[in-house]
Amino acid sequence: FTNMTSQRPSPGDDFGIYYVLAECADHCRGSPVHPGGNQPHLQGVTGLRNLGNTCYMNAILQCLCSISPLVEYFLSGKYITALHKDCSKVATAFAYVMTDMWLGDSDCVSPEILRSALGNLYPAFMKKTQQDAQEFLIYVLNELHESLKKFHRRRSWETGSVPRCCRKAIASETSIVTRLFEGQLNYSIMCLKCENCTYRNEVFTVLPLPIPSEYKCSLQDCLQCFFQQDTLTWNNQIHCSFCETKQEAAVRASISKAPKIMIFHLKRFDILGTMKRKLRTDIHYPLTNLDLTPYICPVFRKHPKYNLCAVVNHFGDLDSGHYTAFCKNSVTQAWFSFDDTRVSEIPDTSVQTATAYLLFYSCQPFSIPIEKC
Ligand SMILES: [Zn+2]
Repeated sequence: FTNMTSQRPSPGDDFGIYYVLAECADHCRGSPVHPGGNQPHLQGVTGLRNLGNTCYMNAILQCLCSISPLVEYFLSGKYITALHKDCSKVATAFAYVMTDMWLGDSDCVSPEILRSALGNLYPAFMKKTQQDAQEFLIYVLNELHESLKKFHRRRSWETGSVPRCCRKAIASETSIVTRLFEGQLNYSIMCLKCENCTYRNEVFTVLPLPIPSEYKCSLQDCLQCFFQQDTLTWNNQIHCSFCETKQEAAVRASISKAPKIMIFHLKRFDILGTMKRKLRTDIHYPLTNLDLTPYICPVFRKHPKYNLCAVVNHFGDLDSGHYTAFCKNSVTQAWFSFDDTRVSEIPDTSVQTATAYLLFYSCQPFSIPIEKC
């Protein structure tokens, strides 16, 4: 989150936990909608009301609320001890929406409390206009991190048997967000004249993948495209400290820390000069055993196989689209489709579609989250 500035609530703002609690009871426990007819209400299988073009928000919330370790962190109340009092609104609102989705008896809840907490910091989310789900995801994760982070006194570096190129800074701030979602890329940059190599690390939470075909390709094709060697020429030349001049360079990225939950952003929104367009490529992605071995530095290949746990879909065009989510429920191990208030179980064979926009993969199977009053 180094590239994001976080805005804090203004001092004297008394929108605290108790206010959130009261608001939440008002907004989230509205009249129930029964998407599944007479079926008993399943934990974590809850529709979300659309507050006026808020399908982008609903699709992201459904995906985050299907990630068991995150659900458990909030349902167990562990988040309360980590909460920073001066910026607790978003995390508290998130906890209440998640609690209603997992432990409430209504088939549908309203995310209004979370929207207003986020809207205070980022007014775009209060407008009734379509927003980008990927941007919303980054804002939510950033705010959760800011509210729940722990400081570490010193910044240390891994040493010992780890090769120099793969050493990683151990973050000085950690949170449930960094523990689950944060990975690190290592860039090797080689001067094409003297072949001197330098290394640079960069943290990521969402990996933006280019789409190499207009019609059909696989997720592995997108990954290969992202991780292939690139040449820096013209304006992008580097300053080589050995040659002491600007030189062309070869750059290659690899994963030096693979996150537990890997989020891929399929870059369907393409900009060609002043023209924006949407790529409707049918991208084939595996539901199980996505192998990231070729892209992870050898010393960090502990869990290179990933299984799909959630998908955000985007239908329509750039400005008039609609978002839905497919999420695997950790209790029943079945896939569900979430389209605002409409929820339905879907077969595994329906999870692969050409509308996928964000893919959530996990390197470990999820257990059922432990709840606590
Ligand atoms: Zn050089």
